[in-house]
Amino acid sequence: VDKTRLKHGRVLSVHGLQSKVLADDGHLYACATRQVLKSLATDQRGVVVAGDQVWFRTEARAGDSGQLGRKANEVVTADGMIERIEPRHGIICRTSRGKQHVIAANVDAMLIIASAAEPGIKPALIDRMLLTAAQCDIEPVIVVNKVDLVDPVQLQSLIGVYASLGYRVLPTSATSGQNIEYLREFLRNRQTALAGQSGVGKSSLLNAIQPGLALAVSTVSTENQKGRHTTTASKLIPLASGGAVFDTPGIRQFQLWDIQATEVAGLMPDIRPYVSGCRYPNCLHLHEDDCAVKDAVADARIDARRYDAYCHLLEDDLL
Ligand code: GDP
Ligand code: ZN
Repeated sequence: VDKTRLKHGRVLSVHGLQSKVLADDGHLYACATRQVLKSLATDQRGVVVAGDQVWFRTEARAGDSGQLGRKANEVVTADGMIERIEPRHGIICRTSRGKQHVIAANVDAMLIIASAAEPGIKPALIDRMLLTAAQCDIEPVIVVNKVDLVDPVQLQSLIGVYASLGYRVLPTSATSGQNIEYLREFLRNRQTALAGQSGVGKSSLLNAIQPGLALAVSTVSTENQKGRHTTTASKLIPLASGGAVFDTPGIRQFQLWDIQATEVAGLMPDIRPYVSGCRYPNCLHLHEDDCAVKDAVADARIDARRYDAYCHLLEDDLL
């Protein structure tokens, strides 16, 4: 492909066979995907996904005044043809009916948002989100919001556990504005996914970062005629200050995808160093003999609470 004749941009959303692409020139294009690209793709559905970096050819059409591309946010029609998808990193997948679908690509970071006060920190939920980030090879940042509602000592004990495991933890308050500027800086020039149960303050944080942003990343789930809820497709929302956030409906109410029980220990930084010492390569570190993980728990090299969390996670979700 001769890139000099193509435009480069990133895919904001995909609707059927058409994708909305924000080109580097700041214009929005509606693009179709070449048949050859489709057959080469490994994931059958959704050949290009939100977050993809693409090269596309613009097409002058009969009746067109030559004005290709539209200003951002304008309604678009078919303007281009995607010729090439850049290699991806940071892929988030969803499995439905046994099939794996990529729902977001080039996710640079995942904000795991929790709340210091009501609804409170749910370590099991945070562990699940951390596991998914680790499995997708995406940098996680734990955001502990509503810190205006707890005293510093309380906060330190909430944060300490994760900080001591080597995770980045950012205390915030959408109400007092604490660390909102830091968060805005963090989001600049990155494509960031947000995860966190409802009520932790995702909308409030987004609105604090950029008024109206929470509306764009709304928690819409549409209901079809049969009354079943179907989540809307993911989209990428550019930020005024640079960077973009993903709206990936599935990861707000978090569930584990595609993680095998035998993989979990290797994705937990404090347990990982021991797994290679177990007798059985597929050891689940539960009831097996000669288990290096259980040995490490027995002499407190692994925190017993973390091991309990590991066992619960396996038993509740994966066994
Ligand atoms: P979401 O469901 O994660 O989007 O959470 P919302 O942004 O809707 O926030 C849930 C509730 O928590 C609302 O009543 C907010 O006003 C409140 N809230 C959000 N952030 C903060 C915060 O930093 N401090 C306090 N005190 N309340 C907050
Ligand atoms: Zn073991």
